[in-house]
Amino acid sequence: MTDFTKTKALFQIPEGMIYLNGNSLGPMPKSAPDRILDFMHNEWATDLIKGWNTKGWFMQTNTLGDRIGALVGAEEDSIVVGDTLSIKIFQAVAACLALRPDRKVILSDNGNFPTDLYMVEGLLKLKEAGYDLRTPNPDDVMEQITDEVACVMLTEVDYRTGRKHDMKAIIDKAHAHGALVVWDLAHSAGAIPVDLSGCDTDFAAGCTYKFLNGGPGAPAFIYVAPRLIADVEPALSGWYGHAAPFDFDLNYRPMPNKIDRMRIGTPSIASFAILEAAMDAWDGVDMQALRARSIELMTLFVGEVEARCPGLTLAGPRDMNARGSHVSFRFEHGYPCMQALIAKKVIGDFRAPDIMRFGITPLFLDEDDIRGAVDILSDILKNETWKEERFQTRSAVT
Ligand SMILES: *Cc1c(COP(=O)(O)O)cnc(C)c1O
Repeated sequence: MTDFTKTKALFQIPEGMIYLNGNSLGPMPKSAPDRILDFMHNEWATDLIKGWNTKGWFMQTNTLGDRIGALVGAEEDSIVVGDTLSIKIFQAVAACLALRPDRKVILSDNGNFPTDLYMVEGLLKLKEAGYDLRTPNPDDVMEQITDEVACVMLTEVDYRTGRKHDMKAIIDKAHAHGALVVWDLAHSAGAIPVDLSGCDTDFAAGCTYKFLNGGPGAPAFIYVAPRLIADVEPALSGWYGHAAPFDFDLNYRPMPNKIDRMRIGTPSIASFAILEAAMDAWDGVDMQALRARSIELMTLFVGEVEARCPGLTLAGPRDMNARGSHVSFRFEHGYPCMQALIAKKVIGDFRAPDIMRFGITPLFLDEDDIRGAVDILSDILKNETWKEERFQTRSAVT
């Protein structure tokens, strides 16, 4: 059994704060400052350029990839870490289009996170005319998977409502129609059990600063099914993915038959140090136990809010098994209400037009946090504190 009181003690959460935003930016692992200082003093300062070999920096893209892979059901050597999620989505979709040259449709949905759609728009500007990016309602994705589709690109868990796609069913139908699938795991990795290999997915990508707690701007990761990697032609053909980077060959040759070809350029090794500390917190965490705990806490939260906070309506499915690990409520005055909550040290976030979003992260939240947050929310609604002038102005990041 995973001991969630132990994992909670691994994170630095300011005194008196209830942090319901681990779905946007995970809290700092207490071991991270020592780890980064150790990297500074005992790796960079001492080893300098040799560190690429002596401290294993060169292959941290892969060693960290395997640690993430263990949480998302990936085979060994099928994930590399680096760059941003936006870039990894671009790489994955570009690879799909190259593998299906006779097909011109990319199927996504209108609940997807905008950057995923923007990256495809940008990619299509580089391709010949005739491509079509389709964004139906999430519920209509299944019926739109046809023989025309080159690539189904979806975010498994909706960043606003928490609704979860049925990964296996979508992959099975896509494969039956000869299409490839790209999954964005931004709200899945570290949030719910994922079985990339068991579901037979083709590509996936995710970020490490949300549920994985890797720190602001922590690197992304990409998964390519081992059965495909030899045929994947990297569209972003950087030297770090070359077959022999230190040959300084003038022509690009991808690393043969290995996930390394999805690497692009020199990664941020200082960020990797923090991510290592964050991944230590996952050692011994059973994802099924995490899921059970997440459902318990989400059920408690929804029940308490619905009983004590009139005016708020649950967004997304009521069935907790059909959700990721965040809960959102629609409220006309969601923005000022969230600011009033934050002023009382209950941290969630707001997504336009009316979504108040709360990450339910068992690694560092328990029943007392959930009840405490709802106590404060119900007070704010009862006293209409959200009407105060100071809660009305919008910041750049909501
Ligand atoms: C958070 C998020 C992103 C962010 O992409 P970055 O390149 O890391 O800024 C992309 N897609 C989804 C679904 C997200 O939730």
